[in-house]
Amino acid sequence: MDPFADTLRRLREAFSAGRTRPAEFRAAQLRGLGRFLQEHKQLLQEALAQDLHKATQLDSAFIRKEPFGLVLVIAPWNYPVNLTLVPLVGALAAGNCVVLKPSEFSRSTEKVLAEVLPRYVDQSCFAVVPGGPQETGQLLEHKFDYIFFTGSPRVGRIVMSAAAKHLTPVTLELGGKNPCYVDDDCDPQTVANRLAWFRYFNTGQTCVAPDYVLCSPDTQERLLPALQSAITRFYGEDPRSSPNLGRIISDKHFQRLRGLLGCGRVAIGGQSDESERYIAPTVLVDVEETEPVMQEEIFGPILPIVNVRSLDEAIDFINRREKPLALYAFSNNKQVVKRVLAQTSSGSFCGNDGFMHLTLDSLPFGGVGASGMGSYHGKFSFDTFSHHRACLLRCPGMEKIYSIRYPPYSPRKLRVL
Ligand code: NAD
Repeated sequence: MDPFADTLRRLREAFSAGRTRPAEFRAAQLRGLGRFLQEHKQLLQEALAQDLHKATQLDSAFIRKEPFGLVLVIAPWNYPVNLTLVPLVGALAAGNCVVLKPSEFSRSTEKVLAEVLPRYVDQSCFAVVPGGPQETGQLLEHKFDYIFFTGSPRVGRIVMSAAAKHLTPVTLELGGKNPCYVDDDCDPQTVANRLAWFRYFNTGQTCVAPDYVLCSPDTQERLLPALQSAITRFYGEDPRSSPNLGRIISDKHFQRLRGLLGCGRVAIGGQSDESERYIAPTVLVDVEETEPVMQEEIFGPILPIVNVRSLDEAIDFINRREKPLALYAFSNNKQVVKRVLAQTSSGSFCGNDGFMHLTLDSLPFGGVGASGMGSYHGKFSFDTFSHHRACLLRCPGMEKIYSIRYPPYSPRKLRVL
């Protein structure tokens, strides 16, 4: 019998029920802690004296942000300039030496970063290592002082295991399936414009793109013609000839995505051409939760719609799955957006639009749970790449006052401490 199962279940249930969230609850718990310390000061002092024979007193303190040392930045292919240089800015600004490992899939960018970028930074402190899994694996055998990884959860696990061997701290910027709830109370064309824009942007190869839509069958019926209209306006009658629609990065990714077109029923798009790695902006309906398109991150121009009967059902659906990198909710009713926000968890959240939150330097960008750990952007990048060293400086004098800490502890000394 597991001696902890009941306790852990009780705490998880309390958390899921939202008990610890209200500000009054938190304040009440902290007041309780304060009372405990006040009312049982004597008891605690006696316990401390018995356990450790000690008591402590601190004066002023400060935090010194210091570079970790040698940092490894590993990047994916989908925004190969942005996702290498933005972490690099943080790592350099904080004073680290950096090894940069771009993705082998975005070959041309990798070449520019390896051959041209080093001319612009001090090469004694900076190196670019081109290559794929094999080279990254070799790099990871070495000890780094910090590892910043952007990529898939699968490789994130490999990186974290390698880091654990050296107790190296990590930031993991991962992916996953980002839900998008569309409420019945909405303007379908506005929602469709925004959805189509941020689902098909970069041909759907964006970590924060909405991965699937949750809505009622009625809203789906209103949304489909609006999505068709938005897609035609953005990419023309023949999206294949549109200069605004890109291609899938590799044959491997193309084959995977083409396999997903067989899920549910194609309501919009569905065409593909292997010779160009082209996949049309696609919407799938009648999709079951158990189908492959609902298991893995899509990372392409395919948008499945899953029907739910209510907001509660949508929230349950989201909470049954891994915590996503981003979560979206569309509604004219502010209370609905606020409920989705309050009753779910995700790396980031945007109400009534797509990924605009990550364009703001004032907000940290990162995942939670399976979508990652740690965050960056703006000042948060500097903090991520800095060790926050806790410091205390004390004057060398005033020994008479400080000597109260030293044993032997008389009842008088204990009263002061
Ligand atoms: P990936 O995990 O396959 O590769 C990322 C990096 O890891 C590459 O540099 C690659 O060379 C290296 N790598 C691959 N296999 C490896 C292995 N076995 N051992 C060691 N290193 C290995 O990811 P990807 O296909 O380049 O990018 C797509 C993924 O990245 C998606 O899941 C997407 O959601 C995620 N992503 C996340 C963010 C974010 O900011 N959270 C941004 C962009 C992409």
